[in-house]
Amino acid sequence: MASLVGGIEAGGTKFVCAVGTGPDDIRAESRFPTTDPDETLLQAIAFFREQQMHHGPIRALGIASFGPVDPHPDSPRFGYITSTPKPGWKDTDFGARISRELGLPLGFDTDVNVAALGEARWGAAQGLDTFLYLTVGTGIGGGGLVNGRMMHGLIHPEMGHVRIPHDRDEDPYPGRCPFHDDCLEGLACGPAIEERWKTPARELPPDHPAWVLEAKYLALALVNYVCTFSPQRMILGGGVMEQLQLFPMIRQQVQQLLNGYVQSPALLERIDEYIVPPGLGNRAGVLGAIALAQDQA
Ligand code: ADP
Ligand code: ZN
Repeated sequence: MASLVGGIEAGGTKFVCAVGTGPDDIRAESRFPTTDPDETLLQAIAFFREQQMHHGPIRALGIASFGPVDPHPDSPRFGYITSTPKPGWKDTDFGARISRELGLPLGFDTDVNVAALGEARWGAAQGLDTFLYLTVGTGIGGGGLVNGRMMHGLIHPEMGHVRIPHDRDEDPYPGRCPFHDDCLEGLACGPAIEERWKTPARELPPDHPAWVLEAKYLALALVNYVCTFSPQRMILGGGVMEQLQLFPMIRQQVQQLLNGYVQSPALLERIDEYIVPPGLGNRAGVLGAIALAQDQA
């Protein structure tokens, strides 16, 4: 039987904490805004302590964190949030501190790697060992599994910050990434859409030209990921991807840009099953954290 574990989806705007054994057995959940590290961490610790009194011992903790983070378990800074521009959170001992105070084994990784793990266990990537999970929201981030393991390497991938061609006649908007101006995140995250069109992204109608441009930028990035990672599937989540009209536009442009070069039926005949929304919807992060905790229990 699966163990009772705790999961945290730690976002830049809100924390979601949950206790359970899997998607059909979440015993309790709490959401609160991400304020300063002390207040936010104490709130999370208090939630898990209280749940332990109601439901009995929790065996492990899994954390899906905004980043950049240190995801290497043998590093002295494992579980730290490192170079984030979010005020107060730079170089914060986050995962290790919570696990120490609760006395629980810790699984800790990027929000997107952990969401990918959730999708592999219970969502749209079941049975796959090499696939990507991209979130398009306040920022853009990508992670996934390669040969069944979460992507790390030097640190972890930063797929949102790839450079893509930017035609300034077509789109004079300069981009909003403080490091690169017009990287993918700078051009295509939710706040960039809002700044470019002077309207919140969610209020732009489905036939607005904003979505043609958005699909183009995302497709340009996705073909680079196909060529570098050879993923078996690409899962696109986050607030912006609630605009479901983007999916067929992105699929069509990915096929056009690849121009038949990558010879797989997944791309040529079954692209509708290749570029897809998360099977767990907006629960991929928190359920992935539960899956990651299960692996430590
Ligand atoms: P976060 O990235 O903060 O974890 P989200 O993935 O929900 O959270 O992303 C929030 C951003 O996504 C908002 O800033 C907004 O720009 C955009 N967004 C949210 N909902 C929608 C929607 N229905 N349509 C288009 N854009 C949306
Ligand atoms: Zn950037």
